[in-house]
Amino acid sequence: MKALQYRTIGAAPELVTVPDPEPGPGQVLLKVSAAGVCHSDIAVMSWPEKDFPYPLPLTLGHEGAGTIAALGEGVTGFSVGDSVAVYGPWGCGACPPCAGGRENYCLRAGELNIFPPGLGAPGAIAEYMIVDDARHLEPLGGLDPIETVPLTDAGLTPYHAIKQSLPKLVPGSTAVVIGAGGLGHVAIQLLRALSPARVIALDVSEDKLDLARTVGAHETVISDAEAADRVRELTGGRGATAVFDFVGAAPTTATAAGCVAMEGDITIVGIGGGVVPVGFGVLPFEVNVTAPYWGSRGELHEVLDLARAGSIEVHVETFAMQDAPLAYERLHSGKINGRAVILPNG
Ligand SMILES: [Zn+2]
Ligand SMILES: [Zn+2]
Repeated sequence: MKALQYRTIGAAPELVTVPDPEPGPGQVLLKVSAAGVCHSDIAVMSWPEKDFPYPLPLTLGHEGAGTIAALGEGVTGFSVGDSVAVYGPWGCGACPPCAGGRENYCLRAGELNIFPPGLGAPGAIAEYMIVDDARHLEPLGGLDPIETVPLTDAGLTPYHAIKQSLPKLVPGSTAVVIGAGGLGHVAIQLLRALSPARVIALDVSEDKLDLARTVGAHETVISDAEAADRVRELTGGRGATAVFDFVGAAPTTATAAGCVAMEGDITIVGIGGGVVPVGFGVLPFEVNVTAPYWGSRGELHEVLDLARAGSIEVHVETFAMQDAPLAYERLHSGKINGRAVILPNG
């Protein structure tokens, strides 16, 4: 089968032919209908060899959806032909966080060598993929796999982040979304669906700010050194109740720190390496700063329910399998509006 692999540190991903995988006991073989392309892959592919945590070659793609092609021995509850999305942050399934569905915070994943698909385990940008356990399958129930696949990360990750701040996002509050790309443009819709907060979107690109307005941002601000002041002006000096930084690089974490309100939240979602210093007098009083990772199985279920209710819609740009390397190039150069989705089986 064809697969898109990261094979050499620092090189672009390559389209290669690899043996068709076969499901072992308890596993499920998926014929991949759609696989999302995430900016975090680009960050991963920029890591130097000494810090690179996964074995190479690595089949990319941590957002996957498809139809079940075969069930491994002992798998029940699903049938060949079922249309499903894949919950990506695989854990052991049995430790305390996993038992609560929070496999993104599995205590034993490191020790047991469990990796998410596309981030250690073979990923979704391939004609077929192995899902390690049927509990990581979420039935699509009529949702379109192409429009739904980004919700497994670009929906789930902001959903988890936003949910933590919902008690503060009361009428009169303000939420700032930094980065109106794959995750950010879904975050804006989630904020509008789940809270009465005024939403201010920041991005360096006018095209992305256009998309931000289309999907429901009340205000948009070019993300530059003055952006924090602009947010303070727009909030009458008070600042933002919650800031969600989907870039997470030094300039955007500085903006987040500069525009947050007293008793506000800063959530750093992007993996751009930026930090927010915390200490008395450094930030407004009683600001919470957190950096979450992905989301829980239950939350993925909730995100798909929101999509079924019509509350969120991902803007997708589709690519054929032979154009998968191009999708990464275009994402890298900031030319994707919304989410790039690869169709490995046409
Ligand atoms: Zn991702
Ligand atoms: Zn676990």
